[in-house]
Amino acid sequence: MSAAPKSVAIIGANLAGGWAADTLRQKGFEGEIILIGEEPDPPYERPPLSKDLLLHPDEMPKTLFLHDLDYYAQQRIELRLGVRASRIDLRGKRVELADGGHVNADRIMLCTGGAARSLPVPGADLPQVHCLRSLADSRAIAAGLAPGKSVVVVGGGVIGLEVAASAARKGCAVSVLEAAPALMSRVVTPEIGQFLLQCHRAEGVDIRPGEGIAAILGESGVQAVDTGSGARIDADIVVLGVGIDPADDLARQAGIATDNGIIVDAHCRTSVAEVYAAGDVANQPNPYLGGRVRLENVQNAQNQGAAAAEAILGSTTAFEELPYFWTDQFDLNVQAAGDTRHAEQAITRGALESHAFSVFYLTQGKVQGVLTVNQPKDMAHGRRMIMRHLCPDPAALADPDSDLRQIVKAAS
Ligand SMILES: Cc1cc2nc3c(=O)[nH]c(=O)nc-3n(C[C@H](O)[C@H](O)[C@H](O)COP(=O)(O)OP(=O)(O)OC[C@H]3O[C@@H](n4cnc5c(N)ncnc54)[C@H](O)[C@@H]3O)c2cc1C
Repeated sequence: MSAAPKSVAIIGANLAGGWAADTLRQKGFEGEIILIGEEPDPPYERPPLSKDLLLHPDEMPKTLFLHDLDYYAQQRIELRLGVRASRIDLRGKRVELADGGHVNADRIMLCTGGAARSLPVPGADLPQVHCLRSLADSRAIAAGLAPGKSVVVVGGGVIGLEVAASAARKGCAVSVLEAAPALMSRVVTPEIGQFLLQCHRAEGVDIRPGEGIAAILGESGVQAVDTGSGARIDADIVVLGVGIDPADDLARQAGIATDNGIIVDAHCRTSVAEVYAAGDVANQPNPYLGGRVRLENVQNAQNQGAAAAEAILGSTTAFEELPYFWTDQFDLNVQAAGDTRHAEQAITRGALESHAFSVFYLTQGKVQGVLTVNQPKDMAHGRRMIMRHLCPDPAALADPDSDLRQIVKAAS
């Protein structure tokens, strides 16, 4: 058993890292906490970057930053911002920084998240082609959105569709290219993808499933996009929403096991003793999805960061996260928990046309996933059903007038 740590270095100063640092202090850790971040800002929430901040870039949401700078000083959390950790020396328990400095620590936590993917197509380096991950990216995109501008979004996943909705709301002519036949296919069924497609089309977004991108055309600036099938779409700005790659390079260089992110166990421990990982970069066994998974959402980043901190302090409780995310597109608030793609049976509660419905996903009678559209209250009941492995009465579930609380009670 190794000695209790006197210092913890957290690499990656955003949601997972910020929550980990906070949790260490809140749980009574008195030693040194050093939070190292490549971005210039202290930890912040990314969800507004594709929503409110694209619509109103001058109105900084009050809750954007986890805490103000004074808080970190009060909590004796040392912030090393605007500097990249360039190497981990495992033997010397030392994190080397790109500015020539270094940090020694008894425990190291990797919360390095992910980097937005670019695309290997001609023109991807033109100045009006953007990815969206950081506050700076969001500001750059917002500067290009104005009534009458043509926007091509590549990728019909969560981020792409949120950007499309925001751009359309700003009066832009928006096209979305999605190489897969359905939208948001990594997280929802083709039926829900189809529902979202119809909603976007009804708002005037030109959605093109099954269509890729061959090139971005223009000399010194973007003029058009050449699609995979040879069509040409005029464009003033292109946003690539084609996913992220986990930022696991530091771990790999240090010889820590990686495979689509940093491999961790149920206690957020990596393959190397006294090195932990959490957030978008961590690939962890998940009891709800069966097998390993790298989740990319706020709830996981916060809770897993906190769980890793508790593990450092000696907690032996396994971290078991029910996967959950939300997205806002036009007037739709979509929330999803558990496995919403692979169930035997989907029970819809309410009419899709009403834009207020829920879908319960059952396998062998047991609820394994729930998706709500503008029905956030149903989510709490659905989560309960999944976590308690309940087999509710399908007919009652399908009846929008039935009381979900009673259904949970009856099935418990
Ligand atoms: C535009 C956008 C909208 C989103 N909307 C939603 C939403 O509505 N709902 C939802 O659930 N989730 C949403 N997400 C996802 C959510 O924001 C992420 O899951 C969450 O930010 C992950 O937190 P993290 O700390 O693990 O990683 P990140 O937020 O990626 O933070 C990692 C940090 O580590 C830094 N870093 C990386 N390498 C180094 C290094 N070597 N040295 C120093 N620093 C380093 C990075 O610069 C970064 O600041 C959204 C994401 C984006 C981009």
